[in-house]
Order: sequence, then C-alpha cells, then structure tokens
Amino acid sequence: MTASRISSRLRQTSNFACRLAYIAVAALWGSWAQAENLALQAGWLFDSESGRLLEKRTVHIVDGKVESVERGFNHRDGERVIDLRTFSVLPGLMDMHTHLAYEYGPRTYTETFSWNPADYTLRAVNTAERTLMAGFTTVRDLGDSGNVTISLRNAIKRGDIPGPRVFTAGKAIATTGGHADPTNGYRHSLMGSPGPAEGVINGPASARQAVRQRYKDGADLIKITATGGVLSVAKSGQNPQFMDDELEAVVATAKDYGYTVAVHAHGQEGMERAIRAGVDSIEHGTYMDDETMSLMKRHDTWYVPTLMAGEWVTKKSAVDGFFPEMVRTKAATIGPLLQDTFGRAYRTGVNIAFGTDSGVSRHGDNAREFALMVEGGMAPADAIRAATWNAAHLLNAQDELGSISPGKWADIVAVVGNPLEDITTLQRVRFVMKGGEIYKQPE
Ligand SMILES: [Zn+2]
Repeated sequence: MTASRISSRLRQTSNFACRLAYIAVAALWGSWAQAENLALQAGWLFDSESGRLLEKRTVHIVDGKVESVERGFNHRDGERVIDLRTFSVLPGLMDMHTHLAYEYGPRTYTETFSWNPADYTLRAVNTAERTLMAGFTTVRDLGDSGNVTISLRNAIKRGDIPGPRVFTAGKAIATTGGHADPTNGYRHSLMGSPGPAEGVINGPASARQAVRQRYKDGADLIKITATGGVLSVAKSGQNPQFMDDELEAVVATAKDYGYTVAVHAHGQEGMERAIRAGVDSIEHGTYMDDETMSLMKRHDTWYVPTLMAGEWVTKKSAVDGFFPEMVRTKAATIGPLLQDTFGRAYRTGVNIAFGTDSGVSRHGDNAREFALMVEGGMAPADAIRAATWNAAHLLNAQDELGSISPGKWADIVAVVGNPLEDITTLQRVRFVMKGGEIYKQPE
C-alpha cells in the first residue's frame, strides 16, 4: 500500500478505532520507507583503499549504511534495485577546504559593510546544495563569518535543507592584521579591534580563549592563518604571523577538545613553525621546500594543496581593477607557484588530501581540482584517493566515511566512463547518494 493510498483511506474511515489502526500502519510505513533496503548495482566500483576499479559489484544498503559489497549483480527479496550497471561508482567525494559562506566576486570587498549573517547564511544554503549536487557529500569548511556554517551544518543534519556533511572550523583564527583579521583595510572607527571571540588573538592566553570559544560555539575543528595570504588587504602574502608560543597554545588547547588544527600557510618560516608545533594540515603550502616536506613527513602533517585557488587568483590578477592593487600583486606572484609545489610534494611522498578553497572559485566546480592534480603529475587513482580515503583519515572519520565498505555511510556517486582514464568525468557526476538517500539520479 502506498503512502497516499493510506492517507486517502484514513480520510474515508469514520470509525475512530479504525482510524487509530490506520495511523499506526501509516507510521510504520513511514519508518519502513526510511529504512528501505537497497541493492545498488555498479558496473565498476572504485575501491579507495587500493585505488583500483572493480568490475560488477552489488552494494547492499540498510539504514543508510553499507551492509555488504558482493561480486556480480544480485538483489534480495524486499530490496529496491538501483541500476548503475553502465556507470562507474565511487565513494562520495570529500573537499577538505571550502568556504560555503563566501563566493568571491567584484562585490566581495564591499559586502562586508552591507551583509548581515542572514545574507551569508542564505548564500551558504545555495552553495551547499550546489556542492552536494556536484558529488561532494562531505566538506571541511575552513572559515566563515558569524558562525553561519555551524548553523548550516546543523540544518543539513536535521534534514531541513540538502547539503554535504559539514565539518566546520567556524570563524578562522588570526593575529592582529593577520590573514583572517576581518577588519584589515577598513576604517578603524567602523571595524574596531576584534578579539579572540571574533578570531583575533595575541599571545598564548588569547589563543586558548579563541579555541575554547570555538568549542562553545560548536565548531568541529580549528583553523588558523599562520602566514600572510593572497586575498586579504595586507602587504605580505607569506610573512609568519604566529609565534611559537601562540602555535603551541592553539595546538595544546585544541587537543583538549579533540580538535584537529588546519593551517593556512604560504611562507616557509610560518609553515615550519606550525608543523613543529604539531598541527594536522597545511593548506596551500606555496613556498615549502624539500626541508619543509621532510619535516611534514616526520610529523605526519597532511598537505591540502587548493590548486583551484592558485589558478583562479592568477587568472583574475590579469583583469584590470578586479582586485585592490595590494591584492593583485600577491595574486600574480603566489598563484602561479602552487601547482609546481604540489607536484614536488607528491613526488616526495607527502600525504595529500583534496581541497579546493571553493568560495574563492565557484562552489559546485570543485571537481576541476582533480584535473589540476593530474596535470600537476598525480596519478588519477591517487587524486581520487585524496578526495575519499585520505580525506576521511584527515577528518578522523575513516570508520564512517571515505570508502564503500560495510559499516560506513552509503555516500555514493556515479559517473559515465572510466575516471582513471579521463579524470574530467568527475566534473559530470550523474548520481549522488548521501546516507542512503538519493539526491540526484540519471534521467
Ligand atoms: Zn581558504
């Protein structure tokens, strides 16, 4: 019996006892519908642990999680079949560096004055949906304003709006005048002097306070800006901006709350201080050299390259008037270096997780990063592993995410063709499932 038939019978039934019985049946049907068992038949299935594409597999899904993966095509009584026999099926893609509340454009430097948190939130509702529909079922958000991505994460978790699983840092932490000081370049009387709650610290005590504030706010991890950056209105794109004692205070406090620490860094000195302090990931990492890379390997530090951000700022630096002059100079210098750094880090064996910095480039275009990684010298299988297996490990969520394996969430995407032969197929994701729920399917 379908749900609509149940409800029409319910309307026709006058006897009270009968109505109650129907309500019970309808409620049960509702829970059965939620727990629908699925048999997803995959022409090819990407094993993110080995990096191999396996032929003809059936994924059995119960309660939104993978129950088993079997050879060949089959289905059991009571299972609904999802026919992806002509598709390549992969674990849901995971982007370890996004900014869902932002999307860079000509208005960016003035919207600070006119936008309220509600405006950023509504944008984030839109960018989250685009991200999910592009096949990214998990993101790590590395900086917003007003903690809007914390509320966004909660709304997605409740099922109120479609979007990826969000692990968010909330507002990033900087030092005064640093890359994530939200008042850089603006009139003092308008912007004041932000403190730890707003993500600006000086010294170990305020570093601890900023981390604890993020715990109170409900963040999932900590993001700091250890060196200058490209898009802030400040002179240097690479100077160190945290002292050793500040880094140590951030890392030690973060550990107390089970947080990982993600670090924006371009310059070598600031990057190496952060690695020695025991942070978990270096974002961008533009000026790292051989020594930095061996330091990262010794400390098990992840590298999240964000090649799309490098490509985007390089392109926009050639457009007259797009950036303030101070930003344009940095964009033209730092942007073009990123892909070469990435290639060297890959060959050296640094652990790499996939990240785009989307919000600089357009949300929903995230999969272009794969093409840039392959162009930079990475094997396609390793690029996909960076966005699945490796990303799950960086998040400490490897028991639940990152591969299509028993016990993990059924976060699954599909493309036409072989992504190991043509990595750009990932830019045309045709099927998206998150937690066993289908958000997009082939027409
Ligand atoms: Zn970023």
